[in-house]
Parts: sequence; C-alpha cells; structure tokens
Amino acid sequence: MKLAVVGTGYVGLVTGTCFAETGNQVVCVDIDARKVEKMKSGIIPIYEPGLEELFLRNTAEGRLSFTTSLAEGIEGAEVIFLALPTPPGEDGSADLKYILGVAKDLGPLLKQYTVIIDKSTVPVGTAEKVRAAIAANASVEFDVISNPEFLREGVAVEDFMKPDRVVIGTTSEKAKASMNRLYAPLVRQGNPIIFMDERSAEMTKYAANAFLAVKITFMNEIANLCEKVGANVDDIRRGIGTDSRIGKRFLFAGIGYGGSCFPKDVQALSKTSSEHDYDFQILDSVMKVNEEQKTRLLPSVLEYFGGDVKGKTIAVWGLAFKPYTDDIREAPALYNMRELLAAGAHVKAYDPEAMENVANLADLGSKVTFTKDAYSALVDADALMIMTEWPQFRTPDFEKLEARLKNKVIFDGRNVYELEDMKERGYTYFSIGRQKIN
Ligand code: NAD
Repeated sequence: MKLAVVGTGYVGLVTGTCFAETGNQVVCVDIDARKVEKMKSGIIPIYEPGLEELFLRNTAEGRLSFTTSLAEGIEGAEVIFLALPTPPGEDGSADLKYILGVAKDLGPLLKQYTVIIDKSTVPVGTAEKVRAAIAANASVEFDVISNPEFLREGVAVEDFMKPDRVVIGTTSEKAKASMNRLYAPLVRQGNPIIFMDERSAEMTKYAANAFLAVKITFMNEIANLCEKVGANVDDIRRGIGTDSRIGKRFLFAGIGYGGSCFPKDVQALSKTSSEHDYDFQILDSVMKVNEEQKTRLLPSVLEYFGGDVKGKTIAVWGLAFKPYTDDIREAPALYNMRELLAAGAHVKAYDPEAMENVANLADLGSKVTFTKDAYSALVDADALMIMTEWPQFRTPDFEKLEARLKNKVIFDGRNVYELEDMKERGYTYFSIGRQKIN
C-alpha cells in the first residue's frame, strides 16, 4: 500500500519505518526541515533500539522517504497517518492545533478516496473535528478513523511489530478493510484487531494510560507508607504481583512517572471529565502524588548535608524518563536537577543517550556538567543520585565508585541496588519504599 505519515517523531517514525518493513511504500512528512534533512542523509533523529537498522534498510531499498511538503508526501497515498504532537494546552486539555492545522491543509490536497488515521492520542470527539476540518475544503470521499498507538519508547519496534492488540475506531466498512490489510502482517500470531466506534477508540487510549499511571502511583504510595511502617516495597511487589488478578508489571516503586504520555494524558482525561461535569477524583490524586513523588528524595539529600547543599557537587546517573530512550520529557531527573541547582549545588550528570537533549534545554544546558561516562560524573562528587534505571548502573565497579565519590552515599530513585549489598559495602543508601541503610 502507499502510505503517508505526517509527524515523524517517536510514533511517526516507528509507524512509517515498520510499515515500510512490511512492504508498504511510505513517505514521512515533518515540518522540521533539519530533521528531514538528517533523515534524508541517513541519520536517525531519535534513539530507539532496533529502529536504525530498519530505517537504513528501508530507505536503502526505496520504501521509506522523507519530505517537508505535505502535498508531495500524500501524493497517491491510500492511507494517511497523523502522528502529530498533542501537548497539554494552558488548561491541561490536549492542544489540537497541530492536528487540526494539518487537517485543514489536507482537504484541498486529497485527490482520491483516502483513509485518514488519528494515531496521536486525542480526546474523545477529535475524529469528528478532524473530519469537519478536512470536509470544509475536500472534494473527494474520505474516512477519518481513530487508531491509537500503544507502543512504549525503548521497545517501540517490538511493540509495533508485535502489538498485544490493534484498536481501530471506525464504522466505515471500507476503512476497516483497509486497516485489516495493513495490519495483517503484524497480527499473524493471532493478537486481535479490535474494532469499535471512534469515540470508544479515543477513550481506550486514555483509559489505558490512566490505568497504568494509577497502578504506578498506587505502588509509590504503598512505598511511601512502607518507609514509615518499616516494610520493604520490593517484598510487597513480589507478594502481590504473583496474584494473577494484579499481575507483575508496573509495580516497581520509584521517583515518579514522567515521559511524554502519562503526565499529559492523565491531565487531558481529567480535563475531559470536568468538561462533562464528571469529577474523576482518582486522577486528581494521581497527578498530585506523582508531582510530590518526583522530588521525594530531595529532603533526604538536604538532611544528609545538614540542611544545605550549597557548594556541594551531586552526581546524577540517568536523565531520560526511563531506560532505552533519549526522551527527557517530564523526566524526574530534570525536576531534581533544577531543585539542586536552585539550592546552590553543582550537578554532574551522565546518561547513555539523553545528555544531548538536556544540553539543549535553555535552563539546564549550560548549568549542568555532562560527563563522558558514568564514573567521570563521580569525580569529586559529594553524593550520587540515580534517576533512571539504565542496566549499566545496576552492577557498577564499586571500587571505581569509591575511588571517585567523596562520600559513600547514594540516593537511589529507582531501587537499583539490594539493601543487603549496600549494607555490606558500607554505604549510606536511600531508596524508595525501603529502609534507609546507614
Ligand atoms: P514527537 O514530538 O516525538 O513527534 C511529533 C512530530 O511532529 C515532530 O517531529 C514535529 O516536528 C512534527 N510536526 C509538528 N507539527 C507538524 C506539522 N504541522 N506537519 C508535520 N509535522 C509536524 O511526538 P510523539 O512522541 O511521536 O507523539 C505523537 C503523538 O503520539 C502524541 O499524541 C502522543 O501522545 C502519541 N503517543 C506517543 C507515544 C510515545 O511513546 N511517544 C506513544 C503512544 C502515543
């Protein structure tokens, strides 16, 4: 099939590349000329494991190409994916200006029946708005359908190529046939394509993300209580995760969720609820708890240094909001570094993939010292904070650590070490939902 993908970010580039891999002819459109130039010259603009290999193969074999021109990109396309940003607007609702802007431009450009797919996470009712915006200037038949994306950054290729399920919101038989054909290679193992109406599909995505945010936040609150009552959240996790009604995943306590999806999607669902006179109380608690959770370790840092970190150097391991990505949107590391810098501390940071993105932030880029490897961040540092559970931080060379760190103290926001091990090694060790080791 001939496809266009408008918006070539984490979702758009994975979508375009994976559909090229299954034999389709794909043009990716992006407004960012620098990004398009990079991709045209064979450079992948994001870090996503496994994506580069597919990207290079499919560009080399001519199935995947890039342009800044919407008109050129959609020429002859049977299907157009919209994988555009939906950031929170000032009031917390999803800002649809990118999607509706492109929809308006699409109308006069359509030359034959086309299926236009909302792949972005969008509030209930958006497909109708997109349809109206296109229809205002279109002269051919088209369908607008909802096909929310459930990929996780870090394992996006695997998630896309072998999805647990594909959700399609449409009542158009023509669009259904087109989606069945497109997705058939990805669901050969029998995972379902679930058809529903477009409003339910739009809601499904928010329900999934909000549920996962609730699950994480529930565990974080259990962790906070564990610290007070003298229990160990890791044991609780094992004790409840083996219950098949609860399940093992998303039960790890930590320093709060971040990323480009959970924070904004929980906020947007809360906004949708209030617009419909429904007080979705659990979401308000989730947002409040998560905000507090992100800086949960800072009081311990202050206390350790006698109430003042001025002039202290804190090494930070991990900047991305989770491992295997360079995405730093809403990453807890950013909140912690801002607070530390505001309190007069110096910050030396290392992340395997995300340093460039932090270096580009106006408020942090010039204030944080970035190092070439994890151990260099420890040189002359007064303490280590762990903000992302990259596997390489799990079994470090402790002799190297001790040769560099001034004090044997670790503030671990991701519970990467065992308490017993830290005790034996003689560290002062703060983690989440477990007792402090002194
Ligand atoms: P992103 O910011 O990484 O990418 C968006 C891209 O759209 C950017 O490259 C930007 O330059 C481009 N763009 C903006 N305006 C444009 C225009 N007018 N024409 C063409 N291109 C334009 O965003 P993302 O993370 O890929 O997310 C996209 C959508 O998918 C969001 O709604 C998000 O909530 C949803 N989503 C994201 C993930 C994820 O893990 N990132 C997962 C599922 C769903």
